[in-house]
Amino acid sequence: MAVRWLDFLFPPRCLACGAGVDRQGHLCPRCFDGLVFLVGPLCRCCGRPLPDTAVPDPLCAACHRKAPSYARLRAALAYHGVGRELVLRFKHGGRLEGVERFAIWMEQAGRELLDEAELVVPVPLHRLRLLVRGFNQAALLAQRLARRAQRPWHPSLLRRIRPTRSQQGLGEAQRWRNVRPAAFHIPAGMRPRIAGRRVLLVDDVVTTGATLHACTEVLLEAGAAAVDALALARVVREEGSGPI
Ligand SMILES: [Zn+2]
Ligand SMILES: [Zn+2]
Repeated sequence: MAVRWLDFLFPPRCLACGAGVDRQGHLCPRCFDGLVFLVGPLCRCCGRPLPDTAVPDPLCAACHRKAPSYARLRAALAYHGVGRELVLRFKHGGRLEGVERFAIWMEQAGRELLDEAELVVPVPLHRLRLLVRGFNQAALLAQRLARRAQRPWHPSLLRRIRPTRSQQGLGEAQRWRNVRPAAFHIPAGMRPRIAGRRVLLVDDVVTTGATLHACTEVLLEAGAAAVDALALARVVREEGSGPI
């Protein structure tokens, strides 16, 4: 009955367009049809969708040329259209009721990464931004994922020490300047928790890969055995247009 009253006071709304839906944390059929789930064949390293191929575990041209610092990246959705709207409403609009569903999609996209993860760590927000926003969307996702896969997680092991500008609206070169490894820090006392472990870094969205790269560098420098990354959504670039 309590849930009914809650639905009465806060009628369930589509997570992407705001239209009325029958259950909290869902999308309307039109928006759901507009989502692009990233399913194989994918580059075994960066997770970029590849044209149909008979090759098992294919590698894209960009990763073949230069392996990224992270071991593997996977994301549930393409970051455009409805997928982008969904992430923006989650992040900036505080539409948190979808987090459980997002974690299920991410678990499906990154099952192997989760199974092998020895520590789950969210991409951190600077404390001032956390104060303003009131939540770290990456930490909410990391917590749900770790709980579902029964993996240890730590919300504040990796810290953002420079209040970087929001990445929104920045060009690619500006984004790389904005999030250099120096923007992140792991306190000395936390390092033993990372040493020799396979770390799974969790974020809501990967656009240029600059944040992911900076966090990976810092984790490897602190002794992580390897770093995988799992995101709710990612920009999907054409094959041959460079790595994420
Ligand atoms: Zn909708
Ligand atoms: Zn690749």
